[in-house]
Amino acid sequence: MSEEDVRPAPNFIREIVKQHLTTNKYGGRVHTRFPPEPNGYLHIGHAKSICLNFGLASEFGGLTNLRFDDTNPSKEEVEYVDSIKEDVRWLGFDWADRQYYASDYFDQLYEWAVQLIKDGKAYVCDLSSDQIREYRGTLTEPGKESPYRKRSVEENLDLFQRMKRGEFPDGSRVLRAKIDMASPNLNMRDPVMYRILRAEHHRTGNKWCIYPMYDYAHGQSDSIEGITHSICTLEFEDHRPLYDWFLDALKVYHPQQIEFARLNLSHTVMSKRKLLQLVQEGYVTRWDDPRMPTLSGLRRRGYTPESIRNFCERIGVAKRDSMVDIALLEYCVREDLNKKASRVMAVLRPLKVIIDNYPEGQTEDLDALNNPEDLSLGTRAIPFSREIYIEEEDFLEEPPAKFYRLAPGREVRLRYAYFIKCVGVIKDATGKILEIHCTYDPKTRGGDSPEGRKVKATLHWVSAPHSIRAEVRLYDHLFTRANPSEEGLDFKALLNPKSLETLSCRLEPSLGSAQPGSRYQFERIGYFCADVMDSRKDHPVFNRTVTLRDEWAKIQKEQVKSSGQEGLAENRHYVVPDSGMITTDEFSKIDLRVGVVRQASLVQGANKLLKLMVDLGEGRLRQIFAGIRSAYPDPERLVGRRVMVAANLKPRQMKFGLSEGMILAGVGKEALGIATFDGNLLPGDKVS
Ligand code: ATP
Ligand code: MG
Repeated sequence: MSEEDVRPAPNFIREIVKQHLTTNKYGGRVHTRFPPEPNGYLHIGHAKSICLNFGLASEFGGLTNLRFDDTNPSKEEVEYVDSIKEDVRWLGFDWADRQYYASDYFDQLYEWAVQLIKDGKAYVCDLSSDQIREYRGTLTEPGKESPYRKRSVEENLDLFQRMKRGEFPDGSRVLRAKIDMASPNLNMRDPVMYRILRAEHHRTGNKWCIYPMYDYAHGQSDSIEGITHSICTLEFEDHRPLYDWFLDALKVYHPQQIEFARLNLSHTVMSKRKLLQLVQEGYVTRWDDPRMPTLSGLRRRGYTPESIRNFCERIGVAKRDSMVDIALLEYCVREDLNKKASRVMAVLRPLKVIIDNYPEGQTEDLDALNNPEDLSLGTRAIPFSREIYIEEEDFLEEPPAKFYRLAPGREVRLRYAYFIKCVGVIKDATGKILEIHCTYDPKTRGGDSPEGRKVKATLHWVSAPHSIRAEVRLYDHLFTRANPSEEGLDFKALLNPKSLETLSCRLEPSLGSAQPGSRYQFERIGYFCADVMDSRKDHPVFNRTVTLRDEWAKIQKEQVKSSGQEGLAENRHYVVPDSGMITTDEFSKIDLRVGVVRQASLVQGANKLLKLMVDLGEGRLRQIFAGIRSAYPDPERLVGRRVMVAANLKPRQMKFGLSEGMILAGVGKEALGIATFDGNLLPGDKVS
C-alpha cells in the first residue's frame, strides 16, 4: 500500500481557525488547551484531542496549555497527573510553563459565583439530588421551579458563605444558576454550580468543602487563560449554551467552544471508568498493560509517537461519531517501524534441525542486513552451526498443495545462509516430531545457488547453541467484538481470552544486548519491543507490537471492491462507516417482516433500550431489545403499532436477555422514530 492510499483526512476545525484568523476574531491569536481530568491514564482517544489542540496551535504559531480539570477531588490522584504529563511529552508536545489546574481558579470561581448571586442569577437550593432530578423534567416535559428559587439575594449570599464555611452537611444544599426551567435544553434548567463535598483535594487539601461543577468551572477557566478555541467532544454540544451563558452573565472574555466527534476504536473500550475496572479487577496487569489502548500501554507494546500522531492525522476530525478499525492504528505503526526497526531473526516455536553433512563443532559467521529499507544501517554477523532451529510451522510432513516451505525431500533457503534439503524426520512414540534432519549445499553460502537452482521458500532460523532463550508475549485484540461498549452488552464478558499468549522462544545472539524499549522486526513474523518493565539480561522479554500481516490493506481492498469504484474511496479511514455498496441479492437475504408490538416496557439498568414483545405471526411473541427509549419514554404508546422487523438475524445474547430481531427506525441527530405501516397488514407479512 502506498502513502497516497491513506491520505490525511479533512479537519473542519482547521478551517474555522483559518477563518477566525482572516476575520481577526481573536487578534490573530490561536490559544488552545488540553484539559484532562486526572482520574485515569490517557488513551488513544485523548491522543486525538492532544494532536488536535497542540497541532492546530503550532500550525498557526499559537500556544497550548495543559490544564488539569481537577474539580472532582474524590476521584483524582497525583499518580494520574504524573502519567498524563509523561504521555503528552512522549507524544511530542510541549506546554512550556503553561501547566494549570482548574483548582488554581477556585478563589476566582467563588468570587464569580458571589457576583452571580448578587445579580440575581444564582441561588442556593435545598432540594435533594433526587428531587432536583425529578423537578428537572424530561425531554418531552418542562421542568418545575424549585421552591427555593425565589430566595432573596441576601439570604442566598448568607447561605452560600455558610456552605463555604462548612456549616452544612455534604449534599444538603447546592448553588444553582437561575436560568430557565422550561428550556428545551435540560442543561439550562437551573444547573448546579456548587456542591458541598468534604473530601481532601490533591492540591488544595482541606481548604474547600464546596467544589464547582465541571460546567461552571470549565468555560471560566478557559476565559481566565485567554483560550481562543475551546475544543471538546460532541457530548458537550448541548452544554455550549450554558458555556456561553456563564461567560455572558459574568461579562468576561469569551472563547469559542467547538465540538468534534470522539475517537472510537474497534475491539477496545475508551471509557476511563471501564479501563479502571479492567485494572482494578485484574483483567489486565496495570494501566500500561500492552493490551490496553492507553498511551502508556501502546508505548510499552512498542508503538512510536510518530505512528500515533500519524494515525490521528489520518482519521481526521469530523462532527459525526464513527468507529475506526484498530487495523488502521496497526497499519500506522507497521509503516513507521518498517523504516526504523532493525531486522533480526527469532524463532517463536522452535523445531530442531540437524544438518547431517555440516562438520560437527564448526561455526561460521554470516553477514545479515540490518535493514533492507536503509542500507546505511549496515550488516551484522550471525553464527551458523550444525544444529539450528526453524519455526515449527515451516515444516509439514505431508504438505498440501501451495505449501512451499520445508517438507521431506524438499529444498529451501535459510535466510543469509544455505540451501538445505530435508532427508529425515525423527518422532517420538506418540508421533510428535522431535527433530528433522537435513543436508546443506556448501556452494549456496549466502543464499544463492551458483547453478541458478531455484527454491520456493526462504526460512528464518537461529543457530541452536548460539541462540538465547527469551519470553515472547503475543498480543491480540483485547475484546472479541468490534464494539464491546454497545448498550446491553456486558463488556467484560466480551474480553478476548486469547489476548495474551506467552511463548518460550529462541533469538539470535545479538538480541542478548537489547535495551529495554528497543524495537525490532523479527523477520517474517512481526515487530517486537523489549519490555521496559520485565526484560532483564538473563531473562529477555519481548512484546509483539504488531504482526507483519496487513489487515488494513485487506479491509481497504474489500471496501473498494464492494463499492465497485476503484478510484473512489474518500472515506476509507472509517471501516465501520456507512457501509459500502451491497448487491440487490445480498439485500434480499434480509427477511423483513411486519411485526405488531404486543407489549413494550422499559429495561432496568439501560438508558436507551426498550423491551418489546413482537408478534410476527409465528404463534409466539419474539423478545426484541431496541435502542429507542429516548423517543418513547412512555413505551405503552407502542403497543398495537405495526413495525418493520429484520426477522432472520441470529438471536443475540444481551445482558438483559436474548434479542430475536431488529426493529427498523429512522435515527437523526435530534430525533428518532420507528418505521411503521399504513394499512391493515398482518403480523408476519413480508416487507419488500
Ligand atoms: P471519560 O469519559 O473516559 O472519562 P473524558 O472525556 O471525561 O473521558 P477527560 O480527561 O475529561 O476524559 O478528557 C480530556 C480531553 O480529551 C477532553 O477534551 C475530551 O474531550 C478529550 N477526549 C476524551 N476522550 C476522547 C476520545 N475518545 N476522542 C477524542 N477526544 C477525547
Ligand atoms: Mg471529561
